[in-house]
Amino acid sequence: MIIKPRVKDFICLTSHPEGCKENVRRQIEYVKSQPKVELGKRVLVLGASTGYGLASRICATYASGASTIGVIFDKPAHGKRTATAGWYNTAAFEEFAKNDGYYAKTINGDAFSQAIKEKTIELIKKDLGKIDMVVYSLAAPRRTTADGTMYSSVLKTVDKPFTAKTLNLKTNELTEATLPPATPEEVEATIKVMGGEDWADWMHALKAADVLTENACTVAYSYIGSKITYPIYYEGTIGAAKQHLYKTAETLRQEGFNAIISVNKALVTQSSSAIPIVPLYVAVMYRVMKDKNVHEGTIEQMYRLWHEYLSQPQPKVDDEHRIRIDDLEMSDDVQNTIFEYWDKVTTENLTQYADVDGYWNDFYNLFGFGFDNVDYDADVNPEVNLDLVE
Ligand code: NAD
Repeated sequence: MIIKPRVKDFICLTSHPEGCKENVRRQIEYVKSQPKVELGKRVLVLGASTGYGLASRICATYASGASTIGVIFDKPAHGKRTATAGWYNTAAFEEFAKNDGYYAKTINGDAFSQAIKEKTIELIKKDLGKIDMVVYSLAAPRRTTADGTMYSSVLKTVDKPFTAKTLNLKTNELTEATLPPATPEEVEATIKVMGGEDWADWMHALKAADVLTENACTVAYSYIGSKITYPIYYEGTIGAAKQHLYKTAETLRQEGFNAIISVNKALVTQSSSAIPIVPLYVAVMYRVMKDKNVHEGTIEQMYRLWHEYLSQPQPKVDDEHRIRIDDLEMSDDVQNTIFEYWDKVTTENLTQYADVDGYWNDFYNLFGFGFDNVDYDADVNPEVNLDLVE
């Protein structure tokens, strides 16, 4: 099959197995080129197939030599449909890791469910005994809780409508988007999906099963971002969920867990491209950070988290006990230039003030497209075997 990108709204319906492999290979090469980091040797990554979770798994393996168990929610190829990018990424990661002599196993299923928690615990007991580190990197549109209720997250404001410039991803033109406020039920549902409840459930389940080492740590990811996106992110429904995540970290610490939040930089991932207004902010931010030579991708961010923070006995945290690897994005110098460009940017001068090409390049890369050393005219087999834990 010859696989070309089929983009619909903010998602690409196809993924390329060779391109996804190249994406994973490049991330591994980056980490291999950096100094090793003394950190957890048995690591569980929840949400391990794309974005920050995949980069975390690569850092755990290639910076710290860890054995990893990944939990993902991905689909294999079926008929004319390609597999999801996360499927191809995971197949590639496992192939590289095993060839390099590392233990890497993956469970595919709903991480919110009790069944997957139990399956994971069983695997830890069988293969690794205990876990030193748990990375919580789920980004999901919905969650079904133990009582069978399904909650869907929404990306809305919490009080009044918010109108701002946005990038029309179909036409590359600037338009305005108005986001309606969420109902109180929608805010609650978003907190259920993207807040800390499931993170705490995982930690409690792992502890009850006695599969955590005494000094085990756990890290969950968050975003704060610029004043430009405050109404839709920080002060919006997703921000409310992240506040819940911070409270959960605090509660977990009071219970004796070494629970850490890392606030990461905004990057193009399958989740962030779904948030209105954010793609334009990201494109402007890419322009500014690349021009100032301080741009990082997911793998550089995660390596810095491993190397400069998590491996330190007392990692530097802000007054809310959060690691801030968004420091470069949030520096006054970068933010002030972003504000200036944000005011100036129009459809006509878009490429001057926004790195739209960089945005699209990252977007296509997520699905395995746009790599100059991959032959996209070649016939490839979309059915890639992933040796999942049954
Ligand atoms: P992503 O969409 O790239 O990855 C999400 C992962 O979760 C995938 O591996 C997916 O398979 C998995 N997943 C989703 N639902 C699942 C389920 N029910 N069961 C098992 N696995 C499931 O997302 P991302 O952007 O890397 O986000 C990860 C975390 O990082 C989130 O907490 C997000 O808020 C945070 N973050 C993202 C950004 C950004 O700009 N992308 C910035 C800062 C923080």
